[in-house]
Amino acid sequence: MNITVVGTGYVGLVTGTCFSEMGNKVTCIDIDQKKVEALKNGIIPIYEPGLEPLVKKNVELGNLSFSTAIKDGLNNSEVAFIAVGTPMGDDGSADLKYVLAVAKQIGEEMTKPLVVIDKSTVPIGTADKVKATIQKALDARGVVIEFHVVSNPEFLKEGAAVNDFMKPDRVVVGAESENAFKVMRKLYATFTHNHDRLIEMDVRSAEMTKYAANAMLATKISFMNEIANICERVGADANKVRIGIGSDNRIGYSFIYPGAGYGGSCFPKDVKALKKIAEENGYKAKLITSVEDVNDAQKFVISNKVIAKFGEDLSGLTFGVWGLSFKPGTDDMREAPSIYVIKELVKRGAKVKAYDPKAMHEAQEFYLKGVESLEYVSSKYKALENADAMILLTEWKEFRSPDFMEIKSLLKQPVLFDGRNQYGVFEIEKEGFEYYQIGKA
Ligand code: NAD
Repeated sequence: MNITVVGTGYVGLVTGTCFSEMGNKVTCIDIDQKKVEALKNGIIPIYEPGLEPLVKKNVELGNLSFSTAIKDGLNNSEVAFIAVGTPMGDDGSADLKYVLAVAKQIGEEMTKPLVVIDKSTVPIGTADKVKATIQKALDARGVVIEFHVVSNPEFLKEGAAVNDFMKPDRVVVGAESENAFKVMRKLYATFTHNHDRLIEMDVRSAEMTKYAANAMLATKISFMNEIANICERVGADANKVRIGIGSDNRIGYSFIYPGAGYGGSCFPKDVKALKKIAEENGYKAKLITSVEDVNDAQKFVISNKVIAKFGEDLSGLTFGVWGLSFKPGTDDMREAPSIYVIKELVKRGAKVKAYDPKAMHEAQEFYLKGVESLEYVSSKYKALENADAMILLTEWKEFRSPDFMEIKSLLKQPVLFDGRNQYGVFEIEKEGFEYYQIGKA
């Protein structure tokens, strides 16, 4: 099929590339000229494992191309994905200005029947707004062209996005006509034919499914963090409690790791947006509100432990931080707990030396830009030279099994704050460390 993908970020680039890998002809559109130029020259603007070779291969095969002009894609395509950002607006709701700007452009430029697929995470009822915007643009041109608007939320995980897209657990499609469902079945046939993984529903339920999924996952994380905070106060060990409850298959092991809070481009904004959607419809979402409150506080649990150990005034102290991205496998720094922890330490007079395998550029350029007393170093061990303590914030694989003797020799004193509960307490305390975890006194 000929496919246009508008918005070439984490979701759009993976979507476009994976469809091209299956032999479709894909045009990826972005308004960011620099990004498009880079992609045309084979430079991938994000870090996502396995993506780069697929992009290069499919560009060479002529299956994948990039442009800033939407009509370059729409002239040929049967389907157009909207995969632009839906950032948090000032009042906490999802800001639809990019989605509706693309809808308007589609209406202005489309020349033949089209299925418009909303892949961005959008509030319930957005497909109606997209439809009305396209229709208005067509009316202004005085033309009649058939189109359908479909909701097809994306569930990929950064760090495993290519695999998630290629082998989806499910593909959710919300549509209101059999014609649109037919096109969507054809589009996804290569990804879903092993198992019947296409789940069809009405548009609003599909839009809601994405928020419900993210809110459920965020709830599991906040729930476990709350249990961990209670564990610390009653002499229980959250690591053991996690295994104890995870073994119940009604609960399961995934997403119940205690930690320094969830971050990223999705959970914080989607939880907030869902709360707002409920509020706008006359319902106070008490559980969702608490999920967010617990997480807001959780981002400071590690800095609070540092303060409890070293005092309110941290001037004269240096901390070596391992990990900046919101999770391993990505350079994405959006809402990363590291931002909160580092700012809190620096605000109290500390110096921070930080290392991350992939996210230092993002941190330096955007999310921790201008933070004084923050130095970026080129290796994990360099971050610890003459530091008063080590703080682990992202569980990158290269941090999982470090040389503790080396760590001990580099630090002024063997103190380790672990925001991801990566190490065995027994082994590490045997090495002579003072070891602080989440959920263990
Ligand atoms: P992103 O910020 O990485 O990418 C968005 C891209 O859209 C940018 O490159 C931007 O320049 C481009 N853009 C904005 N306006 C445009 C326009 N008018 N025309 C063309 N391009 C335009 O965002 P993302 O992380 O890919 O997220 C996109 C959507 O997918 C969001 O709604 C997000 O909530 C959802 N989502 C994200 C993830 C994830 O892990 N990142 C997972 C599932 C769903």
